[in-house]
Amino acid sequence: MYGLTFGRLAAAIALMAAAAQGAHEHAAHEHGVARLNVSIGAKAVSIELESPLANLLSFEHTPESEAEKKEANAMEDTLKKADAIFIFPKSANCKMVKVELSMAHLDDDEDEEDDDEHAEHAEHAEHIDLDGDFDFECQNTAAIGTIGVELFKFFPNIEEIEARVVTQKSQSAVELTPKEKTIKIGR
Ligand SMILES: [Zn+2]
Repeated sequence: MYGLTFGRLAAAIALMAAAAQGAHEHAAHEHGVARLNVSIGAKAVSIELESPLANLLSFEHTPESEAEKKEANAMEDTLKKADAIFIFPKSANCKMVKVELSMAHLDDDEDEEDDDEHAEHAEHAEHIDLDGDFDFECQNTAAIGTIGVELFKFFPNIEEIEARVVTQKSQSAVELTPKEKTIKIGR
């Protein structure tokens, strides 16, 4: 089961903006930097991605032209193939069960009633985060000593990923780069 398509998401952005304090706490929005929260349970792994949209696309606004929509759809398709992005040891026997993508405007312009001219102007100043929730079921999470993160390969605008990992026994934080893209799980 996958999340909404990007087109429907775009239509829902105004609502999302109102609910920006929702499930995800939005940390600093810094182009080039993405964040991952990894939780490893007994039989499941959930990964939250929070990234400026500019890390994933060549632009950071609601897709408008056909070319932009095409690029956004391709980005969404890539993220939906989460088992090619987050690589678990085979012995853990993990399978992707759910991917949900959403976008949040970080614009603090609160006036949603703006006329079109204003909206067009504001578009150049807006910042958008993409939030992804990736859920895996694993038969043996104890075998997860590493998680390979292939986001750099698919999205070269990402320069650094700040990852936090919570297991049933430990918590850790690690900074990933294109040269050091494997999370090592401390237990
Ligand atoms: Zn931005």
